[in-house]
Amino acid sequence: MREPSTTRCDMADIHSFESFAALDGEGIRYAVFFTGCPLRCAYCHNPDTWFRSGNEMTAEEVFNKIRRFKPYFRNGGGVTFSGGEPLLNSVFINEMFDLLKNEDIGYCIDTSGSVELTDGVKRAVDNADMIILDIKFYDAGKYKLYTGGDIEKPLALGRYCTEKGKRLVLRTVIAPGINDTNEDVEKYAGYVSENGLKFEKYELLAFHTMGFFKYDNLKIRNPLAGTPALEAEKLDELQKHLNETLKVKEG
Ligand code: SF4
Repeated sequence: MREPSTTRCDMADIHSFESFAALDGEGIRYAVFFTGCPLRCAYCHNPDTWFRSGNEMTAEEVFNKIRRFKPYFRNGGGVTFSGGEPLLNSVFINEMFDLLKNEDIGYCIDTSGSVELTDGVKRAVDNADMIILDIKFYDAGKYKLYTGGDIEKPLALGRYCTEKGKRLVLRTVIAPGINDTNEDVEKYAGYVSENGLKFEKYELLAFHTMGFFKYDNLKIRNPLAGTPALEAEKLDELQKHLNETLKVKEG
């Protein structure tokens, strides 16, 4: 097994890049996946991002790769920082911002929010066009059980985004037998509304098994081995229920 990832100030360990990524943000995206994550989500389909790749790059090197795609960033496109946990690299992202703004290229951050809300993290959030925040569970016990983390951290980030009027998209992975009932969805809706989070969209994502082979390759235990993928019809049904529940709560 490779060494867990750590971060240096001036360079970042990059897992991979994805050009023409469409999912994480608006328009055509160029996604940068960092290694390193403070969580160990039971349903993680990217456990390979937990460990160092050895591909250390400076902000300028990453910027030079991104810049070539600028013509495709019309219609709201840009960069998406993902991972792993991109906000472990807030110093790097802030260096990137200084380079990107000269080219008028914006960025989104796709985050679990499981980081301390340091000045560096705040600056990375302040300069982002949009934050995509995982709402992994609706109570501290389940959050700890299925991710190993502290639910207060993403909540603090969500509240910070709300205070700042930041464009915020919430996301939750739905896994069979873990959080796939109407009651679960009602609890998610209650959690975000009782905590005053203001968001543009709340999307549910289906648990899938496409990353299972990575656990085998890395020789690490897959806590959800044997769990089936969530069916598309079930996801649609739960998304509809979430939307309706949120509408009622908004009054
Ligand atoms: S936060 Fe994302 S990368 Fe980290 S363990 Fe969870 S699902 Fe995997």
